[in-house]
Amino acid sequence: MTDEICSRDAYQVSTDAAVVEVGDDGVILDRTVFYARGGGQPGDTGTLRWHVGEVRVVDTVKARGEVLHVLEPEATPPSVGAAVFAEIDWARRHTLMRTHTALHALSGIVFTDYGAKVTGGNMEPGIARMDFELDGISQEFGREVEAKLNVALQQDHPVHVGFIPRAEALTDPDLIRTKVSLIPEAVDPIRVVDIVGLDRQADGGTHVRSTREVGHVRVVKTENKGKTFRRIRIEVADKAQAGTPSI
Ligand SMILES: [Zn+2]
Repeated sequence: MTDEICSRDAYQVSTDAAVVEVGDDGVILDRTVFYARGGGQPGDTGTLRWHVGEVRVVDTVKARGEVLHVLEPEATPPSVGAAVFAEIDWARRHTLMRTHTALHALSGIVFTDYGAKVTGGNMEPGIARMDFELDGISQEFGREVEAKLNVALQQDHPVHVGFIPRAEALTDPDLIRTKVSLIPEAVDPIRVVDIVGLDRQADGGTHVRSTREVGHVRVVKTENKGKTFRRIRIEVADKAQAGTPSI
């Protein structure tokens, strides 16, 4: 199994690694800083370099329980056993970390203030949508949520990542609300992302260290998609706050 560094340190941009397997669908390393697509967060892009070559990684996905670095078409991959230097596109990833953290803050606020549960969500760097089970939604609601969200982000809530035993997670009210029971049974312990005082949920994604780093967020659209199906679209401002990687 690949050591997935980003599950402990989202700010590590590169690592030395060894190639474990090379297939038609991509490259598996013994350790990696790349995040594999999941939980609404896209997979990382970046590069693999070794003494005689370099390839672009155009996506990262989970396959057969492994992290698969998907290479650009026609690329010559490194060979099995080769020592490589794996590096992600940090600007893109950091924008995703800000976007992902903004979505968590949004879900916490909409639950706490309106009692609405999240039913789905998706993100690209800088833009995202989140779906809620909610009776009414209006432009005023969008503006109100936007204002609350930005106030909360500026309060600079710390973001803590921890691991707790599955049995404990299944009895935790915050985690029950965010459907921890849907996580495959083999996953134990469970990774928990806690935006202290705002939102706490089981999550595999990458987030910033504290909410001020997200910067300003705009609610760009609110939509009624069905009887109690409401969608909020957000955008994080272009300007990244201090996103210093830990190398
Ligand atoms: Zn998440």
